[in-house]
Amino acid sequence: MKDKILELKNIKKIYHEKQGEIIALDNISFNVKDKEFISIIGPSGCGKSTILSILANIESLTQGEIKMKGKVKVGYMLQQDSLFPWKTVLENCYIGLKIQKQDTKENKNKVLKLLKKYGLYEFKDKYPSSLSGGMRQRVALIRTLATNPDILLLDEPFSALDYQTRLKLSDDLYKIIKNEKKSAIMVTHDIAEAISLSQRIILLTKRPATIKEIYEINLEENKTPTENRKDKNFMKYYDAIWKELDNHV
Ligand code: ADP
Ligand code: MG
Repeated sequence: MKDKILELKNIKKIYHEKQGEIIALDNISFNVKDKEFISIIGPSGCGKSTILSILANIESLTQGEIKMKGKVKVGYMLQQDSLFPWKTVLENCYIGLKIQKQDTKENKNKVLKLLKKYGLYEFKDKYPSSLSGGMRQRVALIRTLATNPDILLLDEPFSALDYQTRLKLSDDLYKIIKNEKKSAIMVTHDIAEAISLSQRIILLTKRPATIKEIYEINLEENKTPTENRKDKNFMKYYDAIWKELDNHV
């Protein structure tokens, strides 16, 4: 059993609005192990992004507890296109480091190495508008990796892309996350995407989100997400999750 590095215990989240209270999360408990890839799926508006906002410390929690092992750090990759259009690829990658006042020579060199390793170095002085959607998301991932987080929070990282690009980027993202030995929590509403990338899938009910089911995904090892889609057990998981999602929407 791999080490737990993060644990959420009985999380409740209520947003207080002028019109009244919105209960977004109720009694959410799960853990994340070292180097594990977890997906969270559930109906639109159920509270998926709220979980990531709480883990990233952007929103407070109303009740419950979050335990992190030692100095575990989270890095948040925002939904859709979050690069600054007026900054170059390299300047975009340095932003997180600057905000955290960690833009040392060593850390900046690390960013250059990541750009080289993942085929983006020759685009470092270009602006985001001249890159494809898939490349922009890879830059966004490298920007998130720059501050050296242990757990990556990915909010629908493929949602703005066409199908072919989504498949290609899921292989790229998966490879980078495994190579860099990170854990990841990905929010998605795409069942196939979740199965092809994850070791575990957390299925939420409609709002207020509670945990409906947690699935362990066991496909043949050392395959890419695209290859995983052809695994003999893939459809079995797909059907099981589809039925559950369908039941309560
Ligand atoms: P999902 O990501 O699953 O689509 P969210 O976590 O974004 O859902 O939202 C869950 C619910 O909380 C929705 O009803 C949404 O309108 C509400 N909500 C999200 N963020 C806020 C906020 N900052 N203030 C008030 N309500 C919010
Ligand atoms: Mg969302």
